[in-house]
Amino acid sequence: MDLTPTADEQSLRDECRAWLREHLPWEYGVGLPPRFDDLVDEVAFGRAWQAKLAEGRWVGVAWPEQYGGRGGGPVEHYIVTEELATARAPELVGRIGVNLLGPTVLAHGTDEQRARFLPNIVSAREIWCQLFSEPEAGSDLASLRTRATRVDGGWVLNGQKVWTSYAQFADWGACLARTDFDARPQAGITYFVVDMRADGVDVRPLRQITDEREFNEVFLTDVFVPDDRVVGPVNEGWRIANSTLTHERGVNPRQLVIHAQLVDELWRLAASRDVLDDPRIGPRLAQAYVEIQLFRLHNWRSVSRHAKGGELGPVGSINKLWWSEMSKRLHDTVMAVLGETAPLWRGAAENPGDGTWQRSWLYYQASSIWAGTNEIQRNVIGERTLGLPR
Ligand SMILES: Cc1cc2nc3c(=O)[nH]c(=O)nc-3n(C[C@H](O)[C@H](O)[C@H](O)COP(=O)(O)OP(=O)(O)OC[C@H]3O[C@@H](n4cnc5c(N)ncnc54)[C@H](O)[C@@H]3O)c2cc1C
Repeated sequence: MDLTPTADEQSLRDECRAWLREHLPWEYGVGLPPRFDDLVDEVAFGRAWQAKLAEGRWVGVAWPEQYGGRGGGPVEHYIVTEELATARAPELVGRIGVNLLGPTVLAHGTDEQRARFLPNIVSAREIWCQLFSEPEAGSDLASLRTRATRVDGGWVLNGQKVWTSYAQFADWGACLARTDFDARPQAGITYFVVDMRADGVDVRPLRQITDEREFNEVFLTDVFVPDDRVVGPVNEGWRIANSTLTHERGVNPRQLVIHAQLVDELWRLAASRDVLDDPRIGPRLAQAYVEIQLFRLHNWRSVSRHAKGGELGPVGSINKLWWSEMSKRLHDTVMAVLGETAPLWRGAAENPGDGTWQRSWLYYQASSIWAGTNEIQRNVIGERTLGLPR
């Protein structure tokens, strides 16, 4: 593995950093993104910010230029994502479109679908949600029961989805529904694009442990989807969904940078509380530091493999398992450093957290669930990498 950037890679990084210094709504390297109490305001800010990024062509870096991308590859995507995270830019509000639907339509959609959807994904003019999980179909996604019935000119969908992030803001939903009830579970599923403003779509926000309402239940009652909103062949939705699901868990420079920043902040916090040499804390700080370096190497190995055209396969599971468990250990260490003030949400004077650490601890509890639970990742690693029996 040669880690030296090429001249082009270095100049892309420099260009991105210079653009960020000029356009970030806060001072580069000093300020922080605004915090919003209301998700509506946060999403509005996120849309405006992504639109600005898109003008600079910093969204969809690996997409063809005709759709607003830069025609780059995995390394270019990695560099730009790393730079954005280093600048503490907020996560893209249109990330589900950018990370999941976009790559799916690029790989399996029609030219008409690409032209219709991709530019609006890049600019965040349209936001997407992922209508996959159901109350009885999460890890075992193939058992999903949302039903699509053939009608003149398209399909009618009925069923219930759950944990649908940002559905209340979404214009479109990428939806898996069953089109053949007689086939084996994986064989009878089709990939649909659902208009989230269509008649029969009912979105009900769910309250999370952080008191935010990012995800939702979505009820679909006789929702019409025209034929030209089917992605790929009918009954092949499982294959199509899986070809892009690995994007969710593979290389993850954003989480790498965020957690590297968290480790720095943890060390500063520990120093300010004079516990660096505390034998109950010191080894845990060292472990957090070592783990972030290992995560960096996992990422580099993956991006290098991806750039050479290799499939990520189970390596994506190893990365996801690693960073999510690392994150939980890191946050537990933060709580140990905060000691008796750890549960305080809004800070007491002596508590350097203004709720940020507590929210972060709660939020990252979900990291071992989203994008496939860690038990499922262990199954994948066990069966596909280690050759263990099912
Ligand atoms: C923050 C967040 C955002 C999300 N956003 C979305 C979204 O936008 N769209 C969407 O469609 N979904 C979304 N999800 C849902 C997510 O994909 C599911 O929660 C996940 O797939 C697990 O499914 P489940 O919750 O039904 O749990 P279950 O599948 O019911 O699992 C329950 C427990 O059983 C374990 N288990 C299940 N099967 C096995 C097995 N074979 N071997 C060993 N253990 C097993 C699991 O690991 C888990 O501990 C989101 C989830 C989170 C936490």
